[in-house]
Amino acid sequence: MKVIIVGGSAGGASCAARLRRLDEKAEIVMVERGPYVSYANCGLPYHVGDVIPKEASLFVADANTFRSQFAVDVRTGCEATKISPDKKTVELRNVATGEVTTEAYDKLVLSPGAPSIRPPLPGIDLPGIFEVRTVPDTRAIREWIEKGSLFLSGMDKYSGFQTLRPKTRAVVIGGGFIGLETAENLVHRGFDVTLVEMGDQILAPIDPEMARIIEGYVEKHGIRLALNDGVAGFKQAANGTLDVLTKSGKSYPADIVILALGVRPDTTLAKMAGLKIGERGGIRVDEHMRTNNPDIFAIGDAVEVKDFVTGEWSLIALAGPANRQGRIAADVIAGRDSRFRGSQGTSIIGLFGAAAAWTGVSEKTLKRIGDKDYEKIYLYPNSHAGYYPGAKPIAMKVIFRKSDGKLLGAQALGEDNVDKRISALAMALQMGATVYDLEEAELCYAPQFGSAKDPVNFAGMVAADVLRGDMPITHWDSADKGFLLDVREPLELAVENAPGAVNIPLGQLRSRLGELPRDREILVICRSGQRAYSATRVLLQKGFRARNLAGGMLSRTHASTFWEG
Ligand SMILES: Cc1cc2nc3c(=O)[nH]c(=O)nc-3n(C[C@H](O)[C@H](O)[C@H](O)COP(=O)(O)OP(=O)(O)OC[C@H]3O[C@@H](n4cnc5c(N)ncnc54)[C@H](O)[C@@H]3O)c2cc1C
Repeated sequence: MKVIIVGGSAGGASCAARLRRLDEKAEIVMVERGPYVSYANCGLPYHVGDVIPKEASLFVADANTFRSQFAVDVRTGCEATKISPDKKTVELRNVATGEVTTEAYDKLVLSPGAPSIRPPLPGIDLPGIFEVRTVPDTRAIREWIEKGSLFLSGMDKYSGFQTLRPKTRAVVIGGGFIGLETAENLVHRGFDVTLVEMGDQILAPIDPEMARIIEGYVEKHGIRLALNDGVAGFKQAANGTLDVLTKSGKSYPADIVILALGVRPDTTLAKMAGLKIGERGGIRVDEHMRTNNPDIFAIGDAVEVKDFVTGEWSLIALAGPANRQGRIAADVIAGRDSRFRGSQGTSIIGLFGAAAAWTGVSEKTLKRIGDKDYEKIYLYPNSHAGYYPGAKPIAMKVIFRKSDGKLLGAQALGEDNVDKRISALAMALQMGATVYDLEEAELCYAPQFGSAKDPVNFAGMVAADVLRGDMPITHWDSADKGFLLDVREPLELAVENAPGAVNIPLGQLRSRLGELPRDREILVICRSGQRAYSATRVLLQKGFRARNLAGGMLSRTHASTFWEG
């Protein structure tokens, strides 16, 4: 059996290695247009920032490793230009010489990835405008940064003394992973960074109130955000620097511009081969990663996958799914019945020592699809036992089915151990866990690592309390509908007040119940919702109608106060 794999990075390389492990006899050809195979895209922003100083560190395995260890016929600088499904052949072009050859296959795997979106904006090809997608891209960025800019326009043509000045201003366009990671790395390299984002928040997959927290954090660390503004074009200024022009009419001067406008599945070959393209613009595959042609498989960023929670077709450009899909395609080619379960979009981004991570569905997606059978909670547990040094709060939002408690999604932010909470929740979600399962999860605990009630348990307990009716909750958008009771200490109110709330500290509540109305619903607030929970329990047992305002003051204003917690 001869298998040709197009694309030698995450999906393609993992498919080639797995296939060889399963089938010693298969002839495996892996073609890659670029100069490298199996390189770490994900490390590229950190090479820009010199956190990964050596380019060589980005190469996970080189072509020779694939040749010697896996007996894979690796061809770099080799582009697949045409598929003839009837003849089962692929045309391959040698990028250096232009020579075209035709290669026959029994099975073909497409893992061409998703190139960056590059709209035809005026001036987009000016020098100093880069993408962060490939190793040559980052090499060019590093050279540009290190070389300094010409002080006067035209000086590059002048053969005598030239004045160079350091580059100091960067404009990053796009507030997704790549834009934010690169923005952080440019800050580390001493740049004054402005990030322009067309949407009203950064990190589009998460909910806006959670994004607000990260926005506050990155701004505190020196990234200036320009939200709700799209880029309209670029101009070269008289002194040789760039001006980034936006749709709102603003102009941002820049010595370097990074385009990070998102990615689009590469379907060129697939379309030529008549393969089915889905409604989201990716190659349509079944759960075995098979296209509508039984001998052609497609994997990675180029394909549409089923959203694990909503069942909708979606595009998920992440290395984890690409690697798993490569493995599944190899399994199926080798005769096994492996299936892709769909993607939860489990993601994490590190920014200035903090992390934001999420899995599953967001509230805004549920709203978009008109799904009302959900509830959400906010909680702010410590990353480990508060008495052990170094504990940091984690802001968590957990979304679950109102009808049966099934976990639907979770988002978390903080400076310590955010990843392990979202990883645990991601696994729970994939196994179809409910919030009642989270209550019972037995997780690692010693004071430096967690708490006897880990944030994951804690989330389950809070959510289960809500569903069992032990702790009715409401949210800030309904805060005007009840009698607001603030159970914090008066000292705390001096820092931040909830307008219109009556203050009875939790310790005095039992003796001051006579001050509270019996004919109105009482909405209870504290800083994070924890004391309000105890107060709500007191009130409910004393015959009042009461609800906890989920997440307390932190969920109302967490952008400004969370990181001070
Ligand atoms: C800067 C950056 C940071 C990232 N960070 C993360 C992260 O932290 N976490 C995460 O989960 N994901 C991250 N990703 C995304 C992750 O890298 C991708 O999801 C993953 O690489 C997709 O694998 P793939 O095989 O589908 O495509 P790719 O890895 O893009 O590989 C496709 C390959 O196919 C080659 N190719 C395309 N067409 C042809 C052709 N016709 N002939 C021959 N070769 C062809 C391309 O040259 C390319 O090398 C990041 C991506 C980038 C760019």
